[in-house]
Amino acid sequence: MTTAPTAAPPRPNAAALRPAGAAPELGSAERKALREQRRPEAEMNALFRREQAHVEGLFSAAPHRDRVGAFEGANYEATGYYRSEMNCLMFTRTERFCRVCAQSIEAVIDQYSSR
Ligand SMILES: [Zn+2]
Repeated sequence: MTTAPTAAPPRPNAAALRPAGAAPELGSAERKALREQRRPEAEMNALFRREQAHVEGLFSAAPHRDRVGAFEGANYEATGYYRSEMNCLMFTRTERFCRVCAQSIEAVIDQYSSR
């Protein structure tokens, strides 16, 4: 006997999980405005650099900033999903993948390439 597949539970969006009165995602309103106004891409890139500098500043003081672990906030959600390191190309606009992502990418490349 097989069981019928169950539907995945609906995923909450970040805004729904944000505590009342908390600020929206950093820069999201500015990003939206830049897109709506069809501003030059250089302005969007400048916003991204400011956002990354802000994030790097926050992370620089964190005691576990260079550790592999379970850091809440991933999959475009503030809570309920975890990433492997504080900073990773998959989470911020940093220029490198975390060690876990890098190892996974290498494993997939190895799987499809001959040695
Ligand atoms: Zn990663």
